[in-house]
Amino acid sequence: MSTLLEVSGVSVSFDGFKAINNLSFQIAERELRAVIGPNGAGKTTFMDIITGKTRPDEGRVTYGDKGASLLSMSESRIAQAGVGRKFQRPTVFEDQSVADNLMMALKKARGPFSVLAFRPDEEDHAKIAKLAEEIGLSGALHRKSGELSHGQKQWLEIGMLLAQEPRLLLVDEPAAGMTPTEREHTTDILREAARTRAVVVVEHDMEFVRRLNCKVTVLHEGSVLAEGSIDYVTKNEKVIDVYLGR
Ligand code: ADP
Repeated sequence: MSTLLEVSGVSVSFDGFKAINNLSFQIAERELRAVIGPNGAGKTTFMDIITGKTRPDEGRVTYGDKGASLLSMSESRIAQAGVGRKFQRPTVFEDQSVADNLMMALKKARGPFSVLAFRPDEEDHAKIAKLAEEIGLSGALHRKSGELSHGQKQWLEIGMLLAQEPRLLLVDEPAAGMTPTEREHTTDILREAARTRAVVVVEHDMEFVRRLNCKVTVLHEGSVLAEGSIDYVTKNEKVIDVYLGR
């Protein structure tokens, strides 16, 4: 499969401290990837570089068929180019229904000029129904989002991002605070989402990562420590040392 995002030799320092150190990373179209690593490994900073929130001191970040440099694009331009990001805390509109939240996301996806003129048609309603099915909230379409469980709110937010049809979706610790059943369902949603787009999941929970059943990148001190299947990385001596602090 062709490469969608390529990060090469990227470094970032904060006040002389190298948070990201000569990091290289590639993800293909429609690939699902887990990024793990201990606290302070550089996972958040790495995601911030991809979305344009943090600019590296050196290195390259290229994206898409033509290998456009993300470093010369603004954060909003990067989002428009199809890079979506889900932060840990859900930010759904609690007093609105699930359907309204999804519709709002769809409206947003049409661009700033269509917001006022947006009148959802049958196709849009069908899209919302399909999205709700994908995130397991078909039965809750008309419920107020504020009444949903923490896990359901997370799914709704994933649905809102999917409504914007990202080509690369970055998801930050989706399993945090979820029940085991919710976690299981979340892996299903993410695996399904990666059938039509690339998905990078930053996660601490190893069982969750195992269930994602995808290639894993282990970050440590701002660099890639190991990369491969979950079985490969969890048996890797360097990874064991870092996680067990030997
Ligand atoms: P992770 O997400 O893996 O926990 P981070 O990317 O948040 O790691 O942080 C990597 C390192 O960079 C940490 O040591 C953190 O303290 C440092 N760091 C991150 N952001 C800043 C910042 N804005 N200013 C100074 N240090 C930072």
